[in-house]
Amino acid sequence: MKLTTREKSALFMEGVVTVILLLMLNLALLVLIVQTIESNPGLRDGIFIIKRSVVLGPHHYQLWSWENLFIGLMMIADAMVVWWRLIRRYRQMQLHHIIEELHYIANGHFDHRIPFRVSGDVQRVVDSVNALVDSVIHSMDEERAIEKSKDELITNVSHDIRTPLTSIIGYLGLIEDKQYHSQDDLLKYTHTAFLKSKQMKSLVDDLFEYTKVRQTDTPLSLTKIDLGAMLEQLAASFELEAQKKGMDIGASDDSADPLMMEADPEKLVRVFNNLVANALKYGDGGKHINLVAKRVSPGELEVRVTNDGPKIPKASLALIFERFYRVEESRSKETGGTGLGLAIAQSIVALHGGYIYVESDDALTSFVIHLPVQHDHPLTVPQRLKTGTPQ
Ligand code: ADP
Repeated sequence: MKLTTREKSALFMEGVVTVILLLMLNLALLVLIVQTIESNPGLRDGIFIIKRSVVLGPHHYQLWSWENLFIGLMMIADAMVVWWRLIRRYRQMQLHHIIEELHYIANGHFDHRIPFRVSGDVQRVVDSVNALVDSVIHSMDEERAIEKSKDELITNVSHDIRTPLTSIIGYLGLIEDKQYHSQDDLLKYTHTAFLKSKQMKSLVDDLFEYTKVRQTDTPLSLTKIDLGAMLEQLAASFELEAQKKGMDIGASDDSADPLMMEADPEKLVRVFNNLVANALKYGDGGKHINLVAKRVSPGELEVRVTNDGPKIPKASLALIFERFYRVEESRSKETGGTGLGLAIAQSIVALHGGYIYVESDDALTSFVIHLPVQHDHPLTVPQRLKTGTPQ
């Protein structure tokens, strides 16, 4: 820490004043002692005898005159007092500097840190203050990001609700104003309003589900499940729908033993439902949807939901799990999605301590889910997925 010129002069003056005061004190003491000894012959004789009898070393050096001894001791004591006073004053100045820096930071200069180094425990205080400012800034940044993300959520939701709502109001307005020519028109308008209301309902449902599973402390109703059996049931429930689209759907696993794991079945089914529904919705021209489970290690299972529809563009792969993200072609096709399905799936998988990613090429699109067998043994997300490059 650098002292200002004013502080240096203050320190110097403090030293000078202390030395003067000490010299005066020494003089007063000296006079007092000399007078006491002079006026007391017995004491003087006693001191003389002590001096004669106390000798040092093999050459029998005698002590100096008592005045010299006394002055020597006084000088050592004086030097210690001066040192102590200067150090104390210097510490006060350091503290003053630290307080000034704190005021500066508190006045909104949050990118500032206490820049100097000081000695001893005060440095620990400086380090703690700097660390505290760092963590406050970090929390403020997080808070801002959350705030921003909430604003975006509201904007997206308002936009997505406004679109069907405008149609509903439009069609109901036509009915209200009797602007229809036949019973068929009337039915057509009510049917469109009904479809748009259902679209709105599914958005609100998805949104509700999304906000529920987004919270990391969302409770799971954990039970032991047979993952293979769950996938088979799920595939069976989608068979009819797949047939209508000219596709087939199947589930398989590579294990002789049941793939048992701890999970919230209702939520996990929601994940696979979303993935299969997407494969049906976006897998135009494809023929097969497969759900394949396998054991990766004793504590980890993998499920691949694969379809042979059109490839997802490379640029979209890293964004596809973001809420409200929809690949451009899907938007234009009006498939009626909310863009929340994969975000919900990702949050549910994360709640189970697992991770999900997507791979897509000209032949296949696969959503790959890794889940821990036991919920309290969460998996570590591989680095390549953290950096957003699944393949
Ligand atoms: P939604 O289906 O409601 O649009 P999702 O979050 O489920 O929202 O999906 C996000 C986007 O990912 C979809 O709009 C679609 O473009 C793309 N997508 C998801 N699954 C597939 C798939 N199996 N094949 C091709 N594209 C897909």
